[in-house]
Amino acid sequence: MIEINKVSKWYGSFQVLTDCSTQVAKGDVMVVCGPSGSGKSTLIKTVNGLEPFQEGTIMVNGQSVGDPKTNLSKLRAKIGMVFQNFELFPHLTIRQNLTLGQVKVLGRSEEEATEKGLKYLDRVGLLSQKDKFPGQLSGGQQQRVAIARALSMDPIAMLFDEPTSALDPEMINEVLDVMVGLAQEGMTMMVVTHEMGFAKRVANRIVFMDRGQIVEDCSKEEFFGAPRSERARDFLAKII
Ligand code: ADP
Ligand code: MG
Repeated sequence: MIEINKVSKWYGSFQVLTDCSTQVAKGDVMVVCGPSGSGKSTLIKTVNGLEPFQEGTIMVNGQSVGDPKTNLSKLRAKIGMVFQNFELFPHLTIRQNLTLGQVKVLGRSEEEATEKGLKYLDRVGLLSQKDKFPGQLSGGQQQRVAIARALSMDPIAMLFDEPTSALDPEMINEVLDVMVGLAQEGMTMMVVTHEMGFAKRVANRIVFMDRGQIVEDCSKEEFFGAPRSERARDFLAKII
């Protein structure tokens, strides 16, 4: 479903991604980990065209992300993205946050969008909060709304960039539980996270990055059991 092939990217003269290749198949749950600054966010953002790249190709569902002929906003509509800082619209209610993209991007009626949005809000356990504003919710609740909003677009895959790292510790699990549920239902997911418990529970692939390179791309058994690279062993020793 997602095919990243020899992707390199530079910010000016600084090479942030070097020859990155990996694939995410339908139903895969890929966890991307690695030290801060290793290029994880940059890599995940290239997948839905939020960051351009200079070399290589990325195919999503048969469409080339780097091809100027590709309609990026249509492509992005198919891939849900959840960020560290929720990025809800602060001046809109939760219900309006859930319906805006569906109406504007997918052309759904207000009624259909509301029905779908509230279904997912209920699923993340927050239906009773529908008329509040984001600022009235906790961080964990806001992130669950962000996930519900992404799901309301009927994505073919979901990208997560450190979805729990801005949260207070007691709120991390409520977000991870929603993500575990999605993984268990077969959602295709690419998740940048330091939550190795999550990786152990639901990942079927682990990508480890260091200095802009994909250093390991393997099963979780292999990664947690016997990582091949020194750099991955060092990383695991520090984090677990
Ligand atoms: P990670 O998500 O693994 O922490 P990032 O992908 O955010 O890493 O960043 C990788 C490297 O690229 C870092 O060294 C960071 O400072 C640099 N970088 C990120 N964004 C920019 C930018 N817009 N301009 C220049 N350098 C950047
Ligand atoms: Mg990052």
